[in-house]
Amino acid sequence: DKAQRPDYLSGLNPEQREAVEALEGPVLVLAGAGTGKTRVLTTRIAHILSTGRAFPSQILAVTFTNKAAREMKERIGVLVGHAVEGMPWLGTFHSIGVKLLRRHAELVGLRSDFTILDTDDVVRLIKQLIQAEGLDDKRWPAKQFAGMIDTWKNKGLDPSQIPEGDARAFANGKGRELYAAYQNRLLTLNACDFGDLLLHPIRMFRANPDVLKEYHGKFRYILVDEYQDTNTAQYMWLRLLAQRPRPSERSASAGPGDARQGQVAAAPDRAPPRSGDSVSASKQQQINICCVGDDDQSIYGWRGAEVDNILRFEKDFPGAKVIKLERNYRSTEHILGAAAHLIAHNEGRLGKTLFTERTNPEDEKVHVHAAWDSEEEARAVGEEIEQLQRKNHKLNDIAILVRASFQMREFEDRFVTLGLNYRVIGGPRFYERMEIRDAMAYFRLVCQPADDLAFERIVNTPKRGLGDTTVRTLHDYARARDIPMLAAASEIIETDELKAKARKSLFDVVADFRRWQTLLETTPHTELAEQILEESGYTAMWQADKSAEAPGRLENLKELIRSMEAFESMRGFLEHVALVMDAEQNENMDAVSIMTLHSAKGLEFSTVFLPGWEEGLFPHQRALDEGGRSGLEEERRLAYVGITRAKHRCHIWFVSNRRIHGLWQSTLPSRFLDELPIAHVEVAEQEASYGGYSRGYGQSRFDKADPFENSYQTPGWKRAQQHRSEATRDNWGTRSGHSVERIGYGESGPRTRTIEGEL
Ligand code: ATP
Ligand code: MG
Repeated sequence: DKAQRPDYLSGLNPEQREAVEALEGPVLVLAGAGTGKTRVLTTRIAHILSTGRAFPSQILAVTFTNKAAREMKERIGVLVGHAVEGMPWLGTFHSIGVKLLRRHAELVGLRSDFTILDTDDVVRLIKQLIQAEGLDDKRWPAKQFAGMIDTWKNKGLDPSQIPEGDARAFANGKGRELYAAYQNRLLTLNACDFGDLLLHPIRMFRANPDVLKEYHGKFRYILVDEYQDTNTAQYMWLRLLAQRPRPSERSASAGPGDARQGQVAAAPDRAPPRSGDSVSASKQQQINICCVGDDDQSIYGWRGAEVDNILRFEKDFPGAKVIKLERNYRSTEHILGAAAHLIAHNEGRLGKTLFTERTNPEDEKVHVHAAWDSEEEARAVGEEIEQLQRKNHKLNDIAILVRASFQMREFEDRFVTLGLNYRVIGGPRFYERMEIRDAMAYFRLVCQPADDLAFERIVNTPKRGLGDTTVRTLHDYARARDIPMLAAASEIIETDELKAKARKSLFDVVADFRRWQTLLETTPHTELAEQILEESGYTAMWQADKSAEAPGRLENLKELIRSMEAFESMRGFLEHVALVMDAEQNENMDAVSIMTLHSAKGLEFSTVFLPGWEEGLFPHQRALDEGGRSGLEEERRLAYVGITRAKHRCHIWFVSNRRIHGLWQSTLPSRFLDELPIAHVEVAEQEASYGGYSRGYGQSRFDKADPFENSYQTPGWKRAQQHRSEATRDNWGTRSGHSVERIGYGESGPRTRTIEGEL
């Protein structure tokens, strides 16, 4: 039986197989793009399941997006040969956090029906708190403070733990108080923000070792994809779940690995070991953690991701097996060669070898195109796509990856004109539209009567004569009694605190919500949703609206109800919306994907278009303004992620004029274009429409003796070269400390050559 290798293992290369089969003890797979890291994780889960080592519910697997989680689950089913009966703990950090919290909400002071607030709610809440402190909310913008709180939460810091300097920097030194007040307010509202989805479980585990122990017994295997983009809070969370405390560690305070994690790691709430614990712990089976990642693809530093978590892994999980994968299965040698050469311009890399055997004389080089402006860029990309379509390429296999989401509109407009199907992934979302948010506020309040933000959003939408004065009275009444506003409303209508008209109006609102709440358990949720929008007068409000957008909004509301059909309950739907940012589009239609480079992580497409490679856009102005190396290097990693999404074709574009914030600016080609290797790049000969600007483009100009001196010989390029003071102009040949980056050509041997890159 053992001699026969299961099907799912036979396609793997030896290193991949090792990573799949090393089921005991910690494993770190560190490897470049397209080497099969995600495939290894998926196969590893299939292997665990089909060898009966664990039940699906004993596997904790973390992916970067919900979409990736769904795909992984499907793949596992295919590998195992039958649909997997639930993998309840396969999801993003956030979705797993929600699940943990719903089970144990009371341990952190919430009820299990808590609401998850989105950014907009958070900002409004903070604004109220700032005003309540008597502070000027113009001088101390709520949005800025929301960002600060998010940063603290990414680092796993509670109000008592934030650095003194941070606390002083905002609101006349009241930063800490405000943060604490915000947390209290969230608990009163029975709500939490995204950061809390991680922090609450951490708090809960630290304060309740018995609960943590239960999970230690439960999760036998932990797997993490895109490990390079975990932040400190996520890492703490992982470590709590993956490390059963050993007796010696129990009483000790923070170990060396903890030093950078602030006080949470050394928090006094760590319980002393109970007698007998250590004995049973050593007898228990170990928890096997496997993380896969690529330091060159760490692109969420701006959101608190710590690429150092990779280095920390070996320290915190002693005896970890580190496996490197070197063969890229995704891209052609030109694409891989271009990407590898570009990323070699970063310093401080862990360094790795990459080669591909996907070579073919017909493989296209990476194309670089110039356009006059973004409209022309979109038109040209559209034409290119239509050509591919004529050659029977699937639109599903084509993606446009932009640096900034404002770039999308131009493509969307163009595709609408051409009648090309497209989908925007993770862009300005359907659920963020005003009418959708209003409707959702109604649904939220029906499901969760303590949701004051929802209440405030719709109490006078449509207009019912319940203006600011009434709301303020209600607010004070609710505050004084520490009850939710809807509850306050149902009490206040029995008093004479309000004017007769407002009172009558509020009476109706309260009666409506009572009725809907009772219907919640009996009426199908889509029917109820429709009923709510009708009876509240919300639909009628848009029907009466004569503005140009009104019909579209009504359409959207219909679409909202339609989208609820896929869920079993209204609560389930609300949770989905709060969490899922990447799933709302029709997945069955053949369509070009448009998304930001950030959301393209982990994906692959046959053809990839990368528009907007201009200084100030890519690398982004923010990174340039920082001046340091780290921002620029993160931009370069983003470029690496972009190129390595492509399997067969990669088209890069830059324009010479771009409108940014309504102003036309003439732009310089991105420095990253200079960093592409001539051997793998072809500069397209452009149409005359570009005027004199691009005359002279072409292969002949490009073919220079020194392969690392990419001079495109155009005014734009020249200007770009002159303007740059960065080290990127250093000649490759003069750099020291090179490591070898190997790009394979077919079988190893005579056709393998080396390209030098930095360590
Ligand atoms: P990224 O860093 O971009 O997330 P990755 O390392 O996770 O990439 P995968 O997405 O797992 O790489 O794999 C890239 C492609 O290579 C996929 O299409 C995958 O199916 C394919 N692949 C991986 N390993 C093999 C193999 N042993 N044989 C054939 N194809 C493979
Ligand atoms: Mg992957």
